[in-house]
Amino acid sequence: MAIQNIGVVGAGQMGAGIAQVAAMTGFLVHVVDVNASALEKGRAMVASSLQRFQKKGELSEQDVAQILERMSWSESLKDLLATQFVIEAVPENESLKKKILSELNIVLAPDVVIASNTSSISIARLGKASGRSERFIGMHFMNPVPRMKLVEIIRSLATSDQTYQMTAELAQKMGKTTTLSKDYPGFVANRILMPMINEAFFALMEGVASPTDIDMTMKLGTNQPMGPLQLADFIGLDTCLAIMEVLHSELGDGKYRPCPLLRQYVDAGWVGKKVLQGVYRYEAENN
Ligand code: NAD
Repeated sequence: MAIQNIGVVGAGQMGAGIAQVAAMTGFLVHVVDVNASALEKGRAMVASSLQRFQKKGELSEQDVAQILERMSWSESLKDLLATQFVIEAVPENESLKKKILSELNIVLAPDVVIASNTSSISIARLGKASGRSERFIGMHFMNPVPRMKLVEIIRSLATSDQTYQMTAELAQKMGKTTTLSKDYPGFVANRILMPMINEAFFALMEGVASPTDIDMTMKLGTNQPMGPLQLADFIGLDTCLAIMEVLHSELGDGKYRPCPLLRQYVDAGWVGKKVLQGVYRYEAENN
């Protein structure tokens, strides 16, 4: 059965972006978040992103109206009953994800595939919590979803071939290129990216250079579109810390120890661009 209805759980920067891209590529999408203000924020993010596409001439006013019509939003998981494929994008916290997955298992028909957008957590363990290990998979979109081409797909030992094929096809229909990773902590993208970001925080903590010099050195010196500290602000320092903790505890190697300065930023609530304060300060209108 061809997929037409997609559900997304979590209306944060990733969930809203995934829902937007699904609607832009013709799917009907229902987004669920735990509270009304998060839904409102997600909706506003989508509206301003679509406006930018329109300003660049990549979408017409009518296109934008039709995309928004394909999207619906609510606070109840029960509203996902009609969806054929659900993507979970709640914060990078294993116990929270497991709780939501077990609730989804009760709401959704048994043949519905659930994909997690987790950055690092075991797909096998999350799959178990979803009550449908064969129909559970990692679908790791990159941020910002409307602009980034890649979806990293992660199969656990239990994920079926059919689930993998269906997920890869869906990602392609959403205009993405896919890679395949085994179910290892951090998969490929964050196994390699996060230690670099963590090291940038160590360099900052040890006073090796200022934030702008660290970022400029890496940007111009290694040909990256943005420096590691700015990228961490865009990802969310809470998410970066959560991923480092998974790498550290599950790979068991001291080289993955989260930088204490990264932890201090998170403890202070300075978790990056989404709250307008991370390593750098941001203006609301640029958000
Ligand atoms: P975020 O903090 O921006 O958004 C998370 C959303 O989940 C919030 O809107 C929150 O209200 C909602 N939420 C919390 N509890 C919920 C519940 N019980 N039910 C429904 N919604 C709930 O986080 P994000 O950056 O969008 O990250 C989400 C996931 O995507 C994480 O697993 C993260 O690791 C992963 N990810 C993040 C990035 C990135 O660059 N930020 C990239 C790839 C993957």
